[in-house]
Amino acid sequence: MEKINLGILDGEVLEYNTVIIGSGAAGLNCAIHLVEEGIAPWQVALVTEKLGSGTSFNAGSDKQTYYKMSIIGDQSDSPLEMAKDLFSGGAMHGDIALVESTNSVREFFHLIHLGVPFPHDKYGGFVGYKTDNDPKQRATSIGPYTSQEMCKRLLEVVDELGIHVIDNSYAVRLLVDENSETEVIGLICIDIKSSSNKEDLEDYIKSIKIFKTRNIVMATGGPSFLYRNSVYPTSQKGSTSLAIEAGCILQNLTESQFGLASTQFRWNVSGSYQQVIPRYISIGKNGDSREFLNDYFPSFRELSRATFLKGYQWPFNSDRVQTLGSSLIDLAVYFETEIQERNVFLDFTRNPHGYDFSIMDSIAKQYLENSKSEEELPYKRLKSLNKSAFLHYKNHGIDLSKYPLQIAVCNQHLNGGVSCDIWWESNVKHLFVIGEINGSHGIHRPGGAALNSGQVGGLRAAQKIAKSYNNTLSLSNEEFYLIIEEQLSVFLEMIENCFKKLKNDDGFSPDAIIKIIQDRMEKYAGIIRPNEGLEAELNNIMLQMKNLDNIIALKNSKDIINYFQIRDSLTTQLLFFSSLLDYHHCSGQSRGSFLINRKSLNTETKETIVSLPTKLSSLNFIRSSLDLADKIQTICLKNGKIEVEWVKVRKIPDFNNWFEKVWKDYNEGKIIS
Ligand SMILES: Cc1cc2nc3c(=O)[nH]c(=O)nc-3n(C[C@H](O)[C@H](O)[C@H](O)COP(=O)(O)OP(=O)(O)OC[C@H]3O[C@@H](n4cnc5c(N)ncnc54)[C@H](O)[C@@H]3O)c2cc1C
Repeated sequence: MEKINLGILDGEVLEYNTVIIGSGAAGLNCAIHLVEEGIAPWQVALVTEKLGSGTSFNAGSDKQTYYKMSIIGDQSDSPLEMAKDLFSGGAMHGDIALVESTNSVREFFHLIHLGVPFPHDKYGGFVGYKTDNDPKQRATSIGPYTSQEMCKRLLEVVDELGIHVIDNSYAVRLLVDENSETEVIGLICIDIKSSSNKEDLEDYIKSIKIFKTRNIVMATGGPSFLYRNSVYPTSQKGSTSLAIEAGCILQNLTESQFGLASTQFRWNVSGSYQQVIPRYISIGKNGDSREFLNDYFPSFRELSRATFLKGYQWPFNSDRVQTLGSSLIDLAVYFETEIQERNVFLDFTRNPHGYDFSIMDSIAKQYLENSKSEEELPYKRLKSLNKSAFLHYKNHGIDLSKYPLQIAVCNQHLNGGVSCDIWWESNVKHLFVIGEINGSHGIHRPGGAALNSGQVGGLRAAQKIAKSYNNTLSLSNEEFYLIIEEQLSVFLEMIENCFKKLKNDDGFSPDAIIKIIQDRMEKYAGIIRPNEGLEAELNNIMLQMKNLDNIIALKNSKDIINYFQIRDSLTTQLLFFSSLLDYHHCSGQSRGSFLINRKSLNTETKETIVSLPTKLSSLNFIRSSLDLADKIQTICLKNGKIEVEWVKVRKIPDFNNWFEKVWKDYNEGKIIS
């Protein structure tokens, strides 16, 4: 290909102090903090695939939760108490837990101050409730769309501040300088709109933008494109490979969250949807329908208890499977859909088999009695208990009083992600990673901790940038070009290859390749994690990555973005599967959101098989004495090779809170380093 310099030497390069990628709750908040901390608004750009897309803008649940330290009435709480609770989830660094807890109130009030309407009482107290993995009442909510409310207001403030938002811009590659220590210096984006109808390579290249920047804040959200059964909004795909290819270390990629959600309209069926005790049915390919939970729960009393608890205990939890726990329901649904290839529905039009209010488990019975929701049918109870939950589906074209609701065990969140320090800076200097793509959480996290972490991360990154990196890159365009030349030509070669494939039907469509990737995730990286066949699949991933340019068929230039999304998913999957394989090799046991399945048992770690009810025996899983919760599995891709390392969790620091000492350090600028 003829050498193309994309006009860099003619000054066609966009230059900023900081470029944020992603317009979710994390990215928008960070943009505001950067300006509040002293960076000029015109020195900040926020590039995003599409304003209003992503998880924060579009996801929600019965009562979407924001987690913060408790600050009302006689509730005793402290940053240390909260840090201990975050830390006790396992595989989480103590200093990060302390930063997240200590700054939770500051970030909560930042949102309040900006005008986000969290509810308070007449004394100004911000009430709280208990969420999962929360021993206090630290959770708060605006309703089903808490994160959307946050985003709407944050975006207004970003606009008011005059921060440069570059919409319809898809980031495809971070540009790094590896001359001394690896640091990020720029970014390549494709303008989605202007590139989509280009027939000609030269024309297409004009829609590519090069950014030269001192700092990058990645806020691209979770890798949601990976799973077929997903409750992420379809507009969220994820771009984890940007960090992987830049040389970032990632961590805890084995730790995700899964739970029951409707699939036609993606929504968690938590809270009230379970508390009214609906009927679970499974329908086969030839239309045969049956209630399958009766195969596992000996009587309606046990079934009603587990169903009711599922409302609170929404994420699948390997500790809640045995003794007829609520997660046995997820497992039974998984078996019907993934092993039996049947469709599962929640039916609110009829009661479960054996329904009898008088023998309903007391926990459910009392709740429905107290709520005066004892109507004879589930949809009537739902209407009475939580009318807006009923109407929510109606507003999305699904009438629960008439039709059953299709559900599956869906992927909802990645607890792991990019590993960063206490200022949310990655091992690649000047590259900050915030929000869901940051891997601060461990095995368990309290509901709502994701939104808190995203806000705190944005504050911390902005503080560090304003204090230590408040300048532009000291490189002329010529020097910049020399450093990025090779990275640029690798990228341009990909674009050129894509153009060669245009209008070529010979190969797999992007949709077909995504299906292969997603099927693989469901089989090996969902709530069931078998070892058998995993290594072979890992080889398949590598093969597909190597041959992607040959096997993919692209219809038109619009498909080039899909090509990059597939590359992203394959690269991310490579690291997921490598983490999983290593976890198996280390004799990792069932924990958090997954059950481990291996043929042979390690006697040294006292591995035993936990037997499930006969029908589910193919899913029997491993428990052992091995506790890896005090370590964190890290992984990175270096010179084409995967490197995995287990590091010990850092403890919660003993902090010195002697006022005069901190005051002195603060005045001498020693706090942020
Ligand atoms: C159904 C559901 C319910 C949830 N409930 C809760 C809850 O109750 N409490 C809680 O704390 N958390 C909850 N979560 C998790 C939480 O909502 C997310 O973790 C959080 O919103 C992620 O915010 P973010 O800003 O990191 O990413 P997102 O909001 O996903 O934003 C990512 C942004 O990056 C953009 N982007 C991605 N790649 C590129 C690219 N290459 N170039 C340009 N732009 C790009 C996207 O378009 C988007 O704008 C829930 C999640 C789901 C799916």
